[in-house]
Amino acid sequence: MFPSCHPLLEEHHSPINLDHHMTRNESLEALHLEGFDAIQTGHWTLHNDGHSVVLQVGNGMSVSGGGLPDVYHTIQLHFHWGGLGTNGSEHTVDRRRYPMEMHIVNMKSIHPNLTAALDDPTGLAVLGFFIDVVYSDNIHFGHISQKLSSVAYKGQTTKVKPFPLMSLLPKHNMSQYYRYYGSLTTPPCSQVVVWTVYEVPIYISWSQLAQFTSQVFSTEEDAEQVTPLQNNFRHVHPTFSRIVSVSKDAKLLTGTAGRPFRSAVSLHLPLIILLGSFISGL
Ligand SMILES: [Zn+2]
Repeated sequence: MFPSCHPLLEEHHSPINLDHHMTRNESLEALHLEGFDAIQTGHWTLHNDGHSVVLQVGNGMSVSGGGLPDVYHTIQLHFHWGGLGTNGSEHTVDRRRYPMEMHIVNMKSIHPNLTAALDDPTGLAVLGFFIDVVYSDNIHFGHISQKLSSVAYKGQTTKVKPFPLMSLLPKHNMSQYYRYYGSLTTPPCSQVVVWTVYEVPIYISWSQLAQFTSQVFSTEEDAEQVTPLQNNFRHVHPTFSRIVSVSKDAKLLTGTAGRPFRSAVSLHLPLIILLGSFISGL
């Protein structure tokens, strides 16, 4: 239905796989996130558009610096996820998919509207955050996940009390990211996005993840057949001749994907040995 979504040779589509074929750029420092620490007045709006859950934020937040060519106003954030037992991030790291991905969409400040921004090769700046799963709830993420039941069905909208957006983000690791030029991952797939994909994920609980994978639907409330909204990620595209840059402080894929697993093993190994010797003692 959307010819512009057909990936042709040498075109710059998203998402991509992030691997070791990246170039360190020492000039890429942390972005300046204006207003992300503040609590905005008024209210935000959470909406189920049948493809994702979108949080429309008010005016007053912007991103700049970190190699971005201009100041970009923050418009909305939304999520991509998998199914029951399958991961659903859009970008992959060494072919590994995270459970979810959050996108903060920002529009270049010189543009009056999205239509104008979609005509500019750097009209949008999207900040991508991987979401990984741990045992404990993320109380800040609860501002969104607790509202999901009000937007379970396509077309539903609810109000959300504004909170500091920075509380959702990996705030001690904001200078570690990857940069490349790509596209929207939903129609019209416009190749107008300066991508910043952060290295360190946001952590939420299993039950917070399950609220997305099993309690959000792509169908309307009165539909005859109810369809869960799952696997709303686009497939990975070749980078072709594109350069994928690594920020000054990024660890270059060492640690972030492997560390939780390794630490879990080192923590549990003595316990397994202890249990083993206990059982053999019996
Ligand atoms: Zn997205």
